[in-house]
Amino acid sequence: ATPTALLVGTGRGSQLGILIRGPQVLEQTRRIDTVVLDKTGTVTTGRMRVALVHAVDGCPEPELLRVAAAAEDGSEHPVARAIVAAAVTATATATASAAPGDTVLPAAEQFAAHAGLGVQAVVDGRLVVAGKPEWLASAWSLELPGELRAARDDAEARGITTVVVAWDGAVRGLIGVADTVKPTSAEAVARLRRLGLRPVLLTGDHDGAARAVAAAVGIDDVRSGVTPAGKLEAIRELQAGGHVVAMVGDGVNDSAALAASDLGIAMGGGTDAAIAASDLTVVSGDLLLVPDAIRLARHTLGTIK
Ligand code: ADP
Ligand code: MG
Repeated sequence: ATPTALLVGTGRGSQLGILIRGPQVLEQTRRIDTVVLDKTGTVTTGRMRVALVHAVDGCPEPELLRVAAAAEDGSEHPVARAIVAAAVTATATATASAAPGDTVLPAAEQFAAHAGLGVQAVVDGRLVVAGKPEWLASAWSLELPGELRAARDDAEARGITTVVVAWDGAVRGLIGVADTVKPTSAEAVARLRRLGLRPVLLTGDHDGAARAVAAAVGIDDVRSGVTPAGKLEAIRELQAGGHVVAMVGDGVNDSAALAASDLGIAMGGGTDAAIAASDLTVVSGDLLLVPDAIRLARHTLGTIK
């Protein structure tokens, strides 16, 4: 392709809301045969809401939510934002004087986020851990009590993501968060297929949530419970199998996979780390722009041969 044609293609991309890092990206885009999609924030809106709060051992539910939210306040993960929003709303409703924007959560110290797993922080002098059930079991030796195991199984069967909350060495309860598939995701997957591309869903979330989303958008290749390092592995495995792979993601947890893929595509609403690791950014976060980008690349490079 001539430099002029590439420039025109890049310019057309930005008109569509597809930011292309450089002209060479169009050539990478044209060669793609597999599109790996992150679930949360990519195929789904990532605007999660708290759907259940289940406390044990006499811990009041508002207290469970408040302490979890304080620990999660330093995390930009959609799960964390949902928990913080629910706690702030609940506290504002309970306290007539609280106005939006008031600091209603206790301060957290020694905050640390564990990508794709959960968070830890010291809140009111207690070491609080909040994250996926498997992580609390493996990293903290905190198994779910029987009462919560049933609640988790029931929630996960409904496609809800569960966060276990523990402090001072004991599990205190479970918070369930629900997500929604973006309105255009199913059509975007259908268009990728029509372009001859193979869609794969890749997520750190549990299999129930992954299957529910995959069924809604028409993907049958689902890889769930994958750590951020595992996402990178998955890309490398597909490449080793001879595929030219695009990765579409929005999170810090997707950065390594985005960088390793043949074409990294970031969602515009996503984290800076994801955008920095990518070749293309879809400004609006509308998944339909992914097949659009591939058609644009094919068109730009095909017309000038
Ligand atoms: P995805 O691949 O769907 O974007 P992630 O890899 O970011 O998901 O996270 C995988 C899982 O780890 C989440 O579904 C959630 O269960 C858990 N998790 C990640 N971050 C947090 C957090 N800040 N608080 C609680 N749980 C979290
Ligand atoms: Mg994500």
